[in-house]
Amino acid sequence: MEKKKFVYSFNEGSKDMKDLLGGKGANLAEMTKIGLPVPFGFTVTTEACNRYYEENQTIADDIVADIFEKLSDLEHVTGKQFGSVENPLLVSVRSGAKISMPGMMDTILNLGLNDNTVEGLAKLTENPRFAYDSYRRFIQMFGDVVMEIPKTKFDAIFDSKKEKEGCEFDVDLTTEHLQDIIVNYKKLVKEEMGRNFPQEPKDQLMEAVMAVFRSWNNERAILYRQLNDIPGSIGTAVNVQSMVFGNMGDTSGTGVAFTRNPANGEKKLFGEFLVNAQGEDVVAGIRTPQPIAEMAEAFPEVYKEFTRISELLEKHYTDMQDMEFTVERNKLFMLQTRNGKRTAAAAVKIAVDMEKEGLIDKKTAVTRLEPAMIDQLLHPKFDDAELAAAERLTKGLPASPGAATGKIYFNAADAVAAVENGNPAVLVRLETSPEDLAGMVAAEGILTARGGMTSHAAVVARGMGKCCVSGCAEIKVDEEVKTLTIGSDVFKEGDYISLDGTAGEVLKGQIKTVPPELSGDFGTIMQWADEIRTLKIRTNADNPRDAKQAVDFGAEGIGLCRTEHMFFEEERIPAVRRMILADSEEERREALSFLLPYQKSDFKGIYEAMGDRPVTIRLLDPPLHEFLPHTDEEIKQLSAQINVPYEKLAKKTEELHEFNPMLGHRGCRLAVTYPEIAEMQAEAIIMAAIEVRKEQGLDIVPEIMIPLVGLKKELADVKATVVQTVEKVMEREGVKFDYLIGTMIEIPRAALTADEIAEEAEFFSFGTNDLTQMTFGFSRDDTGQIIREYRDKGIFDDDPFQSIDQVGVGQLVKMAVEKGKATRPNIKLGICGEHGGDPKSIEFCHNIGLQYVSCSPFRVPIARLAAAQAAVKAEK
Ligand code: ADP
Ligand code: MG
Ligand code: MG
Repeated sequence: MEKKKFVYSFNEGSKDMKDLLGGKGANLAEMTKIGLPVPFGFTVTTEACNRYYEENQTIADDIVADIFEKLSDLEHVTGKQFGSVENPLLVSVRSGAKISMPGMMDTILNLGLNDNTVEGLAKLTENPRFAYDSYRRFIQMFGDVVMEIPKTKFDAIFDSKKEKEGCEFDVDLTTEHLQDIIVNYKKLVKEEMGRNFPQEPKDQLMEAVMAVFRSWNNERAILYRQLNDIPGSIGTAVNVQSMVFGNMGDTSGTGVAFTRNPANGEKKLFGEFLVNAQGEDVVAGIRTPQPIAEMAEAFPEVYKEFTRISELLEKHYTDMQDMEFTVERNKLFMLQTRNGKRTAAAAVKIAVDMEKEGLIDKKTAVTRLEPAMIDQLLHPKFDDAELAAAERLTKGLPASPGAATGKIYFNAADAVAAVENGNPAVLVRLETSPEDLAGMVAAEGILTARGGMTSHAAVVARGMGKCCVSGCAEIKVDEEVKTLTIGSDVFKEGDYISLDGTAGEVLKGQIKTVPPELSGDFGTIMQWADEIRTLKIRTNADNPRDAKQAVDFGAEGIGLCRTEHMFFEEERIPAVRRMILADSEEERREALSFLLPYQKSDFKGIYEAMGDRPVTIRLLDPPLHEFLPHTDEEIKQLSAQINVPYEKLAKKTEELHEFNPMLGHRGCRLAVTYPEIAEMQAEAIIMAAIEVRKEQGLDIVPEIMIPLVGLKKELADVKATVVQTVEKVMEREGVKFDYLIGTMIEIPRAALTADEIAEEAEFFSFGTNDLTQMTFGFSRDDTGQIIREYRDKGIFDDDPFQSIDQVGVGQLVKMAVEKGKATRPNIKLGICGEHGGDPKSIEFCHNIGLQYVSCSPFRVPIARLAAAQAAVKAEK
């Protein structure tokens, strides 16, 4: 058997090897392959990381041997030696998982430096300042990332030296200053670790590689994976790459750039660079960098070359690229490329533009927008009038578009706590770091004093679709005292401000927001999605307002109209209660006859809002006690109100009480025991249809849905009641038109006997909320915490109430589809559980041959896009 390969040189891989080499490694290999200037190196695979965990956090000898073999190749290619004083090889150690996790895991630069090699580097480059600057950076990064010594302790040493020597900028520090800093850094390491800073480069390397593996499971990385649904089992690769130096003086520098604007999608090189700086300086937001266009003046030749390469990369990957580069003494080196993260607005524009440019086709274009991101486009913007009237406090960089209004908090924990207490928060920081992630997630928006368009705050906020204003130089943030000072205004914790991430403006107070529109490029993408998808998209709506909203969002029908919500309204609930408290059928009928006109007008409103689109109306579903008061106090109050003796009311409430209302007297069971309820509802549904057909000339075909069926006979029983009523009403009114009677499949027994059920049902609508509940035996209302813990422990990858459990619940659905079709080949099939708005579940529905999904109005656009993506994927 050939020995498994755990280490690949950059010239041995390609962009298709992301699983093994991670995204960064695969793309470094790809850039090497197509002849771009990439400093040479090698990648330790994700499989090595997994083995590290399998083998109790140790690196096996064979992997160590492979690493040193590739290291010696690297020495050969570069002509430098690890640990040599004459010509030292220095490397960076960079993490990189299959899916990019920006800022989640830390890179170590300048590895290989020690007390001797630093002198060699100084001589070789004739630049001692540069050499010592590199060494102090290395100790700092290694101390932080590998040894886990708090970064602030290094910063304290560095900053106090700067202050003591009166240096405003890092670059003002002299060689001697840096040497002093190094002495103190090493002292700190000794104090903290009880051992000296490692001087042997090979030890440094192995420690660093293991630290990257370890960092795969640090809190930040785990949180990021949870937020982005990335499995923990894929592991990270480690890239070891020979160093190039952007900190060798004014002919050197470093930068990051996107081939198009990641905030708005504009087709123009977008990015930033810093002269005489190394890697992290740009991203860390410590110095404010220059816009990339200014590179044209500072480095005209390099800029030309960079423009050429970025165009080439975009064509090569047929997607917008996010690139990192370094210039060493006027020579350009590419250090990274990947498909750039972007806001939803940018994603839409870029996809539409690239289709026009002939770079991608429509099918690819619709896959370029993540359905979940559409939320951003559906999110509110500031009300124009209020925005115009608002007082502008200051302007920063428009780091991530959107509108945010909230109370200010100065650290992540406070922001999280505020949001938990129902206060919208705006997180205000000097600059953000990965520690702030939870606060950024919780906040409406983020405001930072420092940092550019590619700072941590900006990148992460754009990724989350969160409004962010960064690099706001005129604000003073005191994170200790918790004040934000802008000019003469001083804001304290809990004061309201607003952020306009699109303009980069900070505004005073609270500003009203308004709903967005679906037009322009977004409209174009959605139109393409509609052309491509085969699933129909319906909505769950039980009033004309929601129905209209859903139609505006592109809904093609109603998949679930719940009738119980109508029962709760103020004027009606007394009649509902009278109906429940009735001692005889006659009394019950009388109360129901009061409800009939209300239900009829509800349904008319919905039919009118939906035009000639299909509407499925479900008969009453919840147990009756939901309509009665529960506490003694409430019972007393009601008894006085409706003139029913307290004893009678209390007794009825007691009688109706259920230990497990989810499994009690509800759904079709209500209609079996009280057929007059189903009669009233059927009459209302048909009368509404008759009147709207007449008044509007609409060809309405009502779909009446009987819930919670488990047996063919119980469906038949309720169906008979409904059919009799409908026929009677039609005869009375002298009309005749089609209508459908179907059922929800939400009890496992119904799925198992779907062939029998289909003899009575003209359509199935999968009620996957209840079906999930009953298949798992998980009460939806009582198991939230358990499910969270299951997810933390990896027992569940997804919450089965959010994304359908394809293996178990999905199997029932699939079986019911097959059995249903066997009995009734033209049976209508859809889904109306929450899963109807979840992209993964939608893909499943497409693949098993459902005809439609039904979801809440705001998820309709997401479902349209997800359905198109499912069709594209299934074709491949
Ligand atoms: P991240 O995944 O956080 O972006 P990277 O591994 O890309 O981390 O490293 C961050 C930065 O470090 C890079 O953008 C680059 O500027 C610098 N860097 C990494 N490797 C090298 C190298 N071999 N030579 C010079 N700079 C490097
Ligand atoms: Mg990077
Ligand atoms: Mg149900």
